[in-house]
Amino acid sequence: MAEQDWGSEQYVLEHFGGFYSTGAQHVEAPTEIKQREFGFLSFGGRTMFRHIGFEDTEELRRYLRNYSPAHSYFSAAYYQEPRAPMAEKGWIGADLVFDIDADHFDLPCQKTHDRWTCKTCGEAGKGHPPERCPGCGKATFAEENWLCESCLDAAKYEAQKLLDMLIQDFGFQPSELSVNFSGNRGYHVHVRSPLAKDLDQLARREVVDYILGIGIEAEYQGLTSRQVGGGSMLGRGGWRGRTIRALYDFVGKSTPEEIKALKLGRNTTRDLIEEKDEILSSLMNQHPSRIVRYIDKKSMEKLLDAAVDEQASAIDTVVTTDLRRLIRLPNTLHGKTGWLTQNVPIEDLPDYDPLTMAVAFNEGTEKVYIKRAPEINLQGEVYGPFEEETRELPLAVAMFLLCRKSARVVR
Ligand SMILES: [Zn+2]
Ligand SMILES: [Zn+2]
Repeated sequence: MAEQDWGSEQYVLEHFGGFYSTGAQHVEAPTEIKQREFGFLSFGGRTMFRHIGFEDTEELRRYLRNYSPAHSYFSAAYYQEPRAPMAEKGWIGADLVFDIDADHFDLPCQKTHDRWTCKTCGEAGKGHPPERCPGCGKATFAEENWLCESCLDAAKYEAQKLLDMLIQDFGFQPSELSVNFSGNRGYHVHVRSPLAKDLDQLARREVVDYILGIGIEAEYQGLTSRQVGGGSMLGRGGWRGRTIRALYDFVGKSTPEEIKALKLGRNTTRDLIEEKDEILSSLMNQHPSRIVRYIDKKSMEKLLDAAVDEQASAIDTVVTTDLRRLIRLPNTLHGKTGWLTQNVPIEDLPDYDPLTMAVAFNEGTEKVYIKRAPEINLQGEVYGPFEEETRELPLAVAMFLLCRKSARVVR
């Protein structure tokens, strides 16, 4: 069977059409719909239809019913003329948006479900592709990226850390924030606030640096031999307290082996292991300068980097600093999974499970031939792994494999 049959595009398109015939009613317009630009990717098409504008929600829903796009987006920005070419749109402002995508993480589970193949020599391996192919030294790879509960949990954890910073450190109200499951491997966080709207690219870059914990230096966090002020900083706001809590957590939970793996100075390594309780008690009760005697300057930098990394939120820098970014529209389908992009109320996030909640095609079964797919847990049931086999599967699972172009419908 020819390569272009993978994914049975016509079949998927018809099912997206079936979904939108009733599902479009549940798509809500973003705030200020008349000032937003919309963009859509059709099935099979390589081009994005953008510079589209709608007068009201009904017009947007009609578009979805008529075209059943594979991917649907709207602008974080507000424009005077959203339909005009980019240079003439008249940028008014933009929501502050954050993208968290497990694809950019380094996770153990990726070694079990992701693979790469060298396009030049055919060498293949598990996980993220190497910088250069060990077989031929070239650097162009075909990647098969999947997902599992672990990646989705990791992405959710990063989103929770981000929300905590936006509320605790930036002072945004929970009502100004919205969290969306992306429909694939991550989460989007939108800040809709008059304070955020006007921020230029440079200001957004600073927000990004803050969230990523870039430029945190020991000296300015009280971690210096100079005693300034007294008392613990564990409970302080902003990165001050966050840094000390990061250190406390990091030192507290690291095993001697993990401490040794950091390759810190010899005395520091010994003290972190032997004086651990004393160090933790100092961080808890006293000024951070108290622990400087256990940790040499270079080791402190390394330790702080590792600790801050765990407290920072792994957001995608590019998305937040792009003032004209298009972001997925909630309650629309994601063409690479057949799942919904979905708004998640902040209070529901801890218990939110996209693998049951975001599944769109809940009824019926379909017979598919599967090229290859790792195990996937959907709606509480585990399916696969599959390799060159024909199976009758619940429609949600079949659609997922078709959307990833790893299967085709068997008739
Ligand atoms: Zn190669
Ligand atoms: Zn995973």
